Amino acid sequence: MSGIHHITAIAGDPARNLDFYTRDVGLRLVKKTVNFDDPSTYHFYYGDAAGSPGTILTFFLWPGSAPGSRGGGEVHRTAFRVPMRSMDYWARRFAEREISCQAMETRFGEPVLPFSDPDGTALMLVGIAGAESGPAWSNGDVPVEHAIRGLHGATLVLDSAERTAAILTDVLGFREVGRDGALIRFAASGETNGCVVDIEERKGVTRGHQGRGSVHHIAFRATSDAEQAKMVEKLIAEHKRHPTEQKDRNYFRSIYFREPGGVLFEIATDKPGFAVDEATDVLGRDLRLPGFLESRRAEIESALPVLKT
Ligand code: ZN
Repeated sequence: MSGIHHITAIAGDPARNLDFYTRDVGLRLVKKTVNFDDPSTYHFYYGDAAGSPGTILTFFLWPGSAPGSRGGGEVHRTAFRVPMRSMDYWARRFAEREISCQAMETRFGEPVLPFSDPDGTALMLVGIAGAESGPAWSNGDVPVEHAIRGLHGATLVLDSAERTAAILTDVLGFREVGRDGALIRFAASGETNGCVVDIEERKGVTRGHQGRGSVHHIAFRATSDAEQAKMVEKLIAEHKRHPTEQKDRNYFRSIYFREPGGVLFEIATDKPGFAVDEATDVLGRDLRLPGFLESRRAEIESALPVLKT
């Protein structure tokens, strides 16, 4: 199985981010933890009921961080799947809640509704015929019939598409499936969630500057450590990329590399998943820490911002 595993963005206020994604957008908080490299800050994971790969949007919560500026070499927009017939429901909901959104448009023949979160993270709903038959998480406020069905994909803005496209198709399991205006679409076969990457090629585009509202990195799926290792070999031998060593992220194991267009790519294993340290029915309820930080729990908890729940 290939496709997007998760997308990680940068946000400011943790409570505001939690409120927007769990209440306004109706995703499930599947993990409340800290940034393993900086445990004084939260790391939130949102997804479907089980936190399946391909449904996950995560945030580094960096209060006080400056807004990012959008440019080349980054993920510009993250897209979610919703049932085609739910698009009007969402347009009304965004209007009622005064959520920043644009007019509905069409991309590759599908209706899309661009919107953004309170930090300016660019998002989009894509209406998919038949998506209603897939499983969905409901927070009780967004009716299950209209709820988000995982990630659709991401749009990368790059100065040049060619070498990034080669990695998508040769290493990450995607194939080019079409063009629409300035967009080149790549799809991973057989998957419903997170199977689409669009590249918008903008020659001479200036580099974006990371901050609040920017995507930090995009992670792609590897079914196993062995598959991940093969991908790493190929990246080194055929694409002159030199990924990091494998890092244990508790819920998956990851390697990272900067792709030729400047976007930070990660390859994450499907296993062990989010139920490794708490039961599926209580995912996201308590602050979870990796084993190596558990002895510092009291100190870490007292330094984190207070969240109203
Ligand atoms: Zn990641």
